[in-house]
Formats: sequence, structure tokens, C-alpha cells
Amino acid sequence: MRNIRFIDLAAQQERIKPRVDAAIQRVLAHGAYVMGPEVAQFEAAMSAFCGARHAIGCSNGTDALKLCLLAKGVKPGDAVFCPSFTFAATAETVALVGATPWFVDIHEDTFNMDPASLKRAIAEAKTSGLRLAGVIAVDLFGQPADYRAIEPIVAGEDMWLMGDAAQSFGASYHGRRLGTFGQMTTTSFFPAKPLGAYGDGGAIFTDDDDLAKILRSLIVHGQGADKYDNVRIGITGRLDTLQAAILIEKLTIFEDEIAARNRVADAYAQGLSDVAVVPIVPEGCVSTWAQYTIRAPGRDRSTVLAALKDRGVPTAVYYPKPLHRQIAYKAFPVTGNGLPVSDRVAQDVFSLPMHPYLEADDQAYIIDSVRAALAG
Ligand SMILES: *Cc1c(COP(=O)(O)O)cnc(C)c1O
Repeated sequence: MRNIRFIDLAAQQERIKPRVDAAIQRVLAHGAYVMGPEVAQFEAAMSAFCGARHAIGCSNGTDALKLCLLAKGVKPGDAVFCPSFTFAATAETVALVGATPWFVDIHEDTFNMDPASLKRAIAEAKTSGLRLAGVIAVDLFGQPADYRAIEPIVAGEDMWLMGDAAQSFGASYHGRRLGTFGQMTTTSFFPAKPLGAYGDGGAIFTDDDDLAKILRSLIVHGQGADKYDNVRIGITGRLDTLQAAILIEKLTIFEDEIAARNRVADAYAQGLSDVAVVPIVPEGCVSTWAQYTIRAPGRDRSTVLAALKDRGVPTAVYYPKPLHRQIAYKAFPVTGNGLPVSDRVAQDVFSLPMHPYLEADDQAYIIDSVRAALAG
């Protein structure tokens, strides 16, 4: 049987190993493990890559969200609108600062926030007694949210807009990379994300100078003029020098990897669109394909996935249970008292192996296997 990996980090490491080894050795030689020169270097490289005026490295994608909420002064009594069909961190950070995540439905064909559902949620929240604070649009599976529709909805209210681009750093929307939509964009460098570190890492992007200053203070315990001057409550939220050094090397091949991911996605669409619902990439969007997620409505998913497993094809389900159905989140408000699209797609989505180093013959085998599993 073939040895097919869901994500192949080893193939990438092989490609850049001498450069990563040298970068690690440089950090060991200078010894500035915390806030060493590589952190600022990586931040400048990210800024140039995505076009945001400020790129601030931080500890992980969850802290990136939390730091933005702290910077915006989000507190108990605030409502923050976000999708339910996402990774828990999106809503978790809202709840952690004591605010109320308000769940919004998604579009069936993109898995991203449905602007009509957001509009409805805002109208509902106005009579809830909560203060309307902001919106977290998630760029799920590597694909940008519909910012052209979301931005005017948010602009009409006294609210901020933030993008959770944990899965989608490098993606673009009508010619602009994510990082400059809304007031803040967060991302994650968890190893399995499109741009992954060898450990945890994250970043925040903003064009707002004042916000950037507050965020830089928050990542070191709310520091003011120096380390022992505390002007606000913050956290230990820095990006490690070692991870920055590794990410500098990975960023140099990222553009090429995004192109390779898109070739893989095109081949899946060609090979599967007549037997499954394949993802739609709206006009003007370029995805980084953190996941290649398809749907087989009306089929028993566990049978299909078991058949694929028998053929040595790894799969994953993102996400089997939307957040509003989870024990930890089910008390929070849900738009329209139900999210039919989130519930429906959670029943039938599954994700196929996706990485830039997927060989054509392995992919042909995966496509054949999916076709066979769906026919059986
Ligand atoms: C991975 C992820 C996060 C959290 O990132 P970590 O670096 O793992 O903390 C947040 N939001 C979404 C949508 C994610 O996929």
C-alpha cells in the first residue's frame, strides 16, 4: 500500500534543511533566544509579503486573537460576532476576555461567514442589551472571507473588523493579500498551517500605528517605557527567536508552495467535481488550501472514510461539530436561533491530503480511491 501523508512536513524539511540548520546554528551562536534579531527580520519579511504596515510576531494564533481583543478593550457585556463552523480558538478568546461570542452562519459553498447572517445577527444583538463590539471573519481552509460584503456591514456600525487568517496567511482577495482587511488580521504558524514553524508561533497585522504600539506592549506584560514599567495588563506573547529564524527560511519558498497547493487543488477539482461537492473559490480569491474539504451529501461519511482508510488514504473531518453545539459554547447566542448551514456541512464534510509536495501519481490514486469509495 502507498504511504500517503495527510500533510508532508518531512518533504518540505528535506528541501530546506541546510538553510534551516544554518539558521538554527546562528541563533545558538548569538544566544538571543527571546526577541533576537531574527524576530524583527521575520516581521519585516512578513510585512513585505502581505502589504500590512505592521507585522507583529507573537506566541501562537490563539494569543494573536486574544491580544487583539485586549488591544480593543473587549470586556464583559460586549458581543463579538463570529462563525460557529471554525476552530475553537476564534470564539474561545472572546469568551476568555469575558465577552460574548455571537454565532453567525456560513455560506455552503465557501464555508465562510454569510454576510446576510451577520446582518441578521447585528439586528438581533441590538435588542440584547449587549454592546456591539466587533466581528471576527474567519478565512477558513485557506480562503478569504467575503470582505467586500462584510466591510460595509461593519462600517455602518460602531464596530471593528478583524480577520482570523490562522489558516490563510498568503491568501489574497481581489489582488490584496490578507493582512490589510479590517483593522487587524491574525495568523498562526502551528506546524500544520500553510506557513508552519517547528513549534508554536503566530502574528498580527495592522496598518494602524497606535494599535501596533499597544500590541507590542501587550506581548510583554503591558510594558511602557521599559521592561519594569507596566502601563496595561498584558501577557507573555512573544514569538521565539528560533521559530522566527526557521520561518524566515520557510517564507522564502512559501510563494512557490502556494502555487503548488493550487495545482493540487485544481487536480482534485478536475478529478472529483462530478462525484462530490468540491470547494468553490470565488472570483478574485486565491486560497492557500490549508485544507481541501469536499462534501458528499446524503452519503454515510463514516463508511466513505473507512473505505478510504482501507486503501491507505488518510482523511480528516474539519469540523464534525460546530461550536454552537459544543458543551463549552452552547449557552452563547446563535443567530436566528439556529445555524442550518453550519449544522448541515458538519454532517458531510471531509478533507483530503493537501500539501505542496503531493506527487501526481499519489494524487491520482487518492482521486481514484475517493471515486471508488463514493461509488461503493
Ligand atoms: C489554528 C487556528 C487558530 C489557533 O492557532 P494556534 O496557533 O494553534 O493557537 C485560530 N483560528 C483558526 C481558524 C485556526 O485554524
